[in-house]
Amino acid sequence: MNWQEDIRPLEWMGSDPVAMRCACCGGAPSLWEVEREGVVTKMVNCDRAELRPGAEDAPITENCPMYSPSMAFNKATRREAVGYWNLVQARLAELRAQEPA
Ligand SMILES: [Zn+2]
Repeated sequence: MNWQEDIRPLEWMGSDPVAMRCACCGGAPSLWEVEREGVVTKMVNCDRAELRPGAEDAPITENCPMYSPSMAFNKATRREAVGYWNLVQARLAELRAQEPA
């Protein structure tokens, strides 16, 4: 697919709901504005772009899987984006805490 896409970082504001730390790696959450085919959405993702030890020497960056999550994370508002992010992080933590069946 060939998308026209523009992604811009946003600053957190005091009025934003608090976003949980990444359940995969503990990284800090970051807020982004995504403009795709004229539709503007907000997205929270993990800010940790280097996971592997020595990653600064890697030919490509090796990001946390939550660094650029699926389009399901693109929401109309900042609040909805944080809400969805928190739901997923809480669920990941819950699943990880469960005993294997
Ligand atoms: Zn992460």
